[in-house]
Amino acid sequence: MPQLPDLSGLGSILQFLVACFGAYLFALWIAMIVWTFRDARSRSRDIFTQVLSVALVLVFNLPGLLLYMILRPRETLAEKYERELAGEAMLQDIEERQVCPVCHHKISADFLVCPNCHTKLHKKCDHCGRVLNLKWNVCPYCGETQGTPVVGRITTPPPPPTARLPQRQPTTLPSPETPRAIPPPSAQPAEGQ
Ligand SMILES: [Zn+2]
Ligand SMILES: [Zn+2]
Repeated sequence: MPQLPDLSGLGSILQFLVACFGAYLFALWIAMIVWTFRDARSRSRDIFTQVLSVALVLVFNLPGLLLYMILRPRETLAEKYERELAGEAMLQDIEERQVCPVCHHKISADFLVCPNCHTKLHKKCDHCGRVLNLKWNVCPYCGETQGTPVVGRITTPPPPPTARLPQRQPTTLPSPETPRAIPPPSAQPAEGQ
């Protein structure tokens, strides 16, 4: 007779273990759903895809998770963003690899003259000495205004206006001289009379 209570005790222990296992499986199921939701959200902004992924695991459990792992987007949004950034950086790098506008020799962004054909490519700031674009009239590094922009030197039509000014002055100058010249002839006849 004392063996019967022992059996019932074993039964309750088994029941407890089964309950524990069931709870463990339930927790695992919930964890899989949460993981799938997070993973789907990191891989797609599409709400329909996210809901479908969660529903797949919700309904089919572990096989559903395997299906999701097979069908999910290959890379996360963060990975995709990083890949795009790297691509952009590479493009920018290619763009920055300049060539001489005259001889197309490979040059660096901070070259002052082309080593091949000696074409002036950049200028130095008058104040801080940093390499500047020839067209810049102000240094973006120190804010100093560049007094002699090389572009202004190349296009130097200012001389003609200055040459015109002296021409006008002589034309105005003779006029006061001519009245002076007129009096003498008038004075000469006066002397002659
Ligand atoms: Zn060159
Ligand atoms: Zn400067």
